[in-house]
Amino acid sequence: MGEFSGTEPLVGEIVGLRTFRVDDSGMLLPLYSNGAWYDGPNTATCAPPTGDHHRSAHPVPSDDCECGFYAYGTTDAAKQNRHTRYVQAVVSCWGGVVAGTQGIRAQHARIDAIWLHPKASKSVRSRVASRYPSARMYTDADAMVGEHPLSALPCYDRPRPLPAAAKVAAVVGLAALLALGLLPEGVLHRTDLLWDLWVVVTAAVVALTAWLVVGAHGAGHLAAAFVMAGVLAWLVAPVCGVSGWLLRLPLLRGLAVVGGGYLLTLRPHYFPIVKTPHERAFCGVRP
Ligand SMILES: [Zn+2]
Repeated sequence: MGEFSGTEPLVGEIVGLRTFRVDDSGMLLPLYSNGAWYDGPNTATCAPPTGDHHRSAHPVPSDDCECGFYAYGTTDAAKQNRHTRYVQAVVSCWGGVVAGTQGIRAQHARIDAIWLHPKASKSVRSRVASRYPSARMYTDADAMVGEHPLSALPCYDRPRPLPAAAKVAAVVGLAALLALGLLPEGVLHRTDLLWDLWVVVTAAVVALTAWLVVGAHGAGHLAAAFVMAGVLAWLVAPVCGVSGWLLRLPLLRGLAVVGGGYLLTLRPHYFPIVKTPHERAFCGVRP
C-alpha cells in the first residue's frame, strides 16, 4: 500500500489535515503547485505535481497516477511535513477517495478550518479569513483538531520516529563523507584502506545519484538527485587538484542557501508568505 493510495475507494466525507503556503492575497496554495484552493468545494483534475501529464483520461484519483487532493490522516503523519509548523487546515474530502498508510487523495475537498502560526500578522490572518469565509479560523491547532476530528481509517500507520541513534549515525556519516572530500589526493593514497573507502563511497554516491535521476518519481527524488550530484562533485574534488575547489562550490552554495533560509526562520516575526502567482495554474483545481 502506498502512503496516499491503496485501499478500495471510500464513500462519504473523510476528514484529513494538510498544510498550505499562504500568498500575499491570502489565498492558500499547495506546497508544490500554484493551483489555489477556493472557499467551499474544490474539484481536482489530473495535474500531478511531478508525474507526466500525458496520461490517458482516468478518474481522479487513480491508483496509477498521483493526482487528487492530498490530506494527511493523522496529526502525527502531518507533523512529518515541516510546513505544518506554520499552516494547518482541516479538509473534508469526498467523491473518489483512496486511502494509504499516511493519508488520502480525493476528488473533491473543502477547507473546514484553518490554523496559522501565532507569528502570522493580523493582516495576513484577516486576508486569509476573508478568502475563506466558510472556514473557521483558529489560533490553537489542538483546539481546531479537537473540534474538527480527523477520520480514523484502519489503514493509517503510526509514523515511526527515527531513533536518536539513527539521527546521530546520519550526522556522523555525513560529516565523514564531507571530510573524505576535503582530503588532498596524496593523503587518500597514503593507505590502501583510505583509498578503497573513497572508491567505495564515491561509487555508492554515483549509484544513488543515478538511481534518483532514472527512478525519479516525485519532486523529492529530483531534488535529492541534485543534492547527491553536489555531494558527488565534493567527493571527486580531491583528485582534481586545485580546480577541485570549483567542484566544491555547488555544495558550499547549497549549504549557504539552506543555512541562510534557516536563519531567516529564526527572526521574531517570521511567517512565510509567497508572492501571488501571476497566472494561477487552474489545472489543479476548479473553483
Ligand atoms: Zn491523474
